[in-house]
Amino acid sequence: MAEPSGRVAIVGGGWAGMAAAVTLCTAGWPVTVFEAAKVLGGRARRVEVEERRLDNGQHILLGAYAQTLSLLRTVHGGRAERELFDRRRLHLEQPGVFRLKTPPLPAPWHLAVALLGARGLPRHDRLATVAFVRRLRRARFRCASQLTVAALLVDQSPLAVTLLWEPLCVAALNTPIDSASAHIFLNVLRQAFAAHARDSDVLVPRTDLSALFPEAAASYVAARGGEVRLGSTVLRLAVQDGPIGVVTEKGEERFVASVLAVGPHQLAALAGLAERSAAAATLGQVAAFAYEPIRTTYLDYGRPLDLPLPMLKLDGNPGQWLFDRGALGGAPGLAAVVVSTDVAAARVEHAELERAIDRQLRGLWPALPPPAWSQTIAERRATYACVAGLPRPLAGALEKRLYLAGDYTDPDLPATLEAATRSGVAAARQLLAARPQA
Ligand SMILES: Cc1cc2nc3c(=O)[nH]c(=O)nc-3n(C[C@H](O)[C@H](O)[C@H](O)COP(=O)(O)OP(=O)(O)OC[C@H]3O[C@@H](n4cnc5c(N)ncnc54)[C@H](O)[C@@H]3O)c2cc1C
Repeated sequence: MAEPSGRVAIVGGGWAGMAAAVTLCTAGWPVTVFEAAKVLGGRARRVEVEERRLDNGQHILLGAYAQTLSLLRTVHGGRAERELFDRRRLHLEQPGVFRLKTPPLPAPWHLAVALLGARGLPRHDRLATVAFVRRLRRARFRCASQLTVAALLVDQSPLAVTLLWEPLCVAALNTPIDSASAHIFLNVLRQAFAAHARDSDVLVPRTDLSALFPEAAASYVAARGGEVRLGSTVLRLAVQDGPIGVVTEKGEERFVASVLAVGPHQLAALAGLAERSAAAATLGQVAAFAYEPIRTTYLDYGRPLDLPLPMLKLDGNPGQWLFDRGALGGAPGLAAVVVSTDVAAARVEHAELERAIDRQLRGLWPALPPPAWSQTIAERRATYACVAGLPRPLAGALEKRLYLAGDYTDPDLPATLEAATRSGVAAARQLLAARPQA
């Protein structure tokens, strides 16, 4: 087989771009990654604020993130998973209100027993929830593509929706249940609950998000002759019949092929793409996307929080999930509180949101002192809105030598780290199969 001739340009050093880079380098294809920002990771990256290492948003992974976990094993070599994550069986706990705890049983019994024993739901709701999940399993977690999650849940009690299904949907799809895609939500449920009990484990990172994957991937790539350029924005792509021209402010360079792994809202800014008819269709689909924000508020209480679990469910007024960053390798007393989707209570000044979240936490734990420090990071376009029936482009060849990746191109999953890494690997594999020559 012919040796690869020329390098592959990867535009975007988020989790999709770095997954593509690792896949290509593993196969012996040299790559150059162009990342506009000064730090790798895109929407899952480290942020330094007043000498504190935070993330742009609190993230969790699932045991079912097979592609991401496999890449992590590749780039971290022998480093044990427990150094990177706090991994636990699914245990959703809203103090004094709700508890869903999976026991150490094989799937699907772990979920059935957890639902039957859920605290906070009356018996008839628990039985109805188990029957609902059994129906979903019989239907192989499939439904019409136009169905919304709210319509899927029509037979579930309002309490089961409020305590269980809505928080799960918003956490997984970052989209309100009234418009969220039931088809994609069921894919997530199948991925987490259908095969192995470990798939529904929750993994909370113990390192910052850039160190967790993209920076370890960059070291892996560099050790195999690849290159990662930070602060390097691709302005234009010169796509002709031959090699692809990648234009930055330093000029144009030629590459044998390119993987475009920018966020969906950043695709249209790549000049030269719209003139290509294959890309124009993709740009048209992406132009129709709406986006949902995620806000993460950090509060430093200056002393250990001593919570029963590092991740707790909140009532959504306004915080939805609480993470004890001190128990996860961060500064003792540092709380991270997540508010997903564009809820009205979070559409306020950051200082006001921080006060409201502090009130919410000290309502639950009155012994907490006032926070010594707080900071909110709002990602306005955290994910595309995963609404029912949304047409989306697929990862892979846009045309000869030009490949698309990114969390919005996985056909089955919502915008997640796993969708991003799967798309990067899929695009790289297509490229490897095509073996473009200079
Ligand atoms: C606050 C928040 C919380 C989240 N929580 C979770 C979670 O708990 N679990 C989960 O699985 N997912 C979560 N997600 C979603 C997850 O972070 C994303 O799905 C994933 O990071 C997307 O990766 P990507 O590589 O596809 O895109 P991006 O991360 O958007 O990467 C694109 C990269 O391209 C770069 N770029 C853009 N244009 C150019 C250019 N012209 N030249 C060079 N570089 C360019 C950008 O700077 C960026 O680094 C969350 C997202 C946010 C924002």
